[in-house]
Amino acid sequence: MVRAEAVSKAYGSNEVLKSISLEVQRGEVLCLVGPSGSGKSTFLRCINHLETINAGRLWVDGELVGYRQSGDKIYEMHPKEAAKQRRDIGMVFQRFNLFPHMTALENVMLAPNLLKKGDKASLQSRAMELLARVGLAERYDYYPAHLSGGQQQRVAIARALAMEPKLMLFDEPTSALDPELVGEVLEVMQGLAESGMTMIVVTHEMGFAREVADELVFMDGGVVVEAGDPAEVLSNPQRERTKAFLSKVL
Ligand code: ATP
Ligand code: MG
Repeated sequence: MVRAEAVSKAYGSNEVLKSISLEVQRGEVLCLVGPSGSGKSTFLRCINHLETINAGRLWVDGELVGYRQSGDKIYEMHPKEAAKQRRDIGMVFQRFNLFPHMTALENVMLAPNLLKKGDKASLQSRAMELLARVGLAERYDYYPAHLSGGQQQRVAIARALAMEPKLMLFDEPTSALDPELVGEVLEVMQGLAESGMTMIVVTHEMGFAREVADELVFMDGGVVVEAGDPAEVLSNPQRERTKAFLSKVL
C-alpha cells in the first residue's frame, strides 16, 4: 500500500530525511518512533504530498505520490490532481483541528458533503455510523468545546474515515491528551487496525506499538536506524541509538 524508495527531503541545507526506504502492506500497521526532530512528521507529510520530496520515489496504492509517469518521463501533478490523490489518505494530528462552530456530526459530514458524495440523508446516516464506531453516537450534536480532548480526537478520526481513505496517517494522536484519555483513542485506533485499515502511526505509546503494529520503525536524524517486529525491537534492540531512545520512553 505504501512504498518509499530512498526518499530524501531537505529544508535548505537541513537534510531532514536521508534516503528513507520502507514498505507497508495493505492492512498492516506501521509504528514510527524516534526523537524530536528526527523527521517523523515530515515523512508523513511527504506521503500525502503536503511536502515535495527532493529525491527518491513514494507510492501509495501503486500510484506515485504527486507525480504522473508517462513512458520514461515523470511530471509533477497539477495541484488539483494532487489534492484528489490526498483525499484517499486520512490524516489525524496531535491537535484535533475540529471546526469549533460545527457539531461533531457536522464536522464528520463536512468533507463528503462538499464533495457531494451523496444526498444529505445518506451522508448523515453514514456520519452517524462513524460516530457510533468511535463510541460517540450520543454526542453527535455536541460542539467541540463541550467534548473532552479524547472525544474530540475520536471525532477527528471519524471525520478522516468519512472520506473512506485507503490509508490512515496518525501523527502523535494522543500526545496532547491527558493521560486518562489516551486509552479511549488508542482503543478506537486498535479497532480500526483490526478492521483491516492500513495505518502509519507516529507515537510514543510503545504498548500500542507492541500490541497492534506489524512493524516498528525507529528513526533518528532522518534515517531508519532499526526496523522490525515490534516485540523484538522493543525487547531486544540491536543498535545503541535505539537502546538509548527506548530507555527514555519505556
Ligand atoms: P517531533 O517529535 O518533535 O514532532 P519530528 O520527528 O516529527 O519531531 P519533524 O517535524 O519532521 O520532526 O522535523 C524534522 C526537522 O525538519 C527539524 O529539524 C525541523 O526543524 C525541520 N522542519 C520541519 N518542518 C520544516 C519546515 N516547514 N521548514 C523548515 N524546516 C522544517
Ligand atoms: Mg512530529
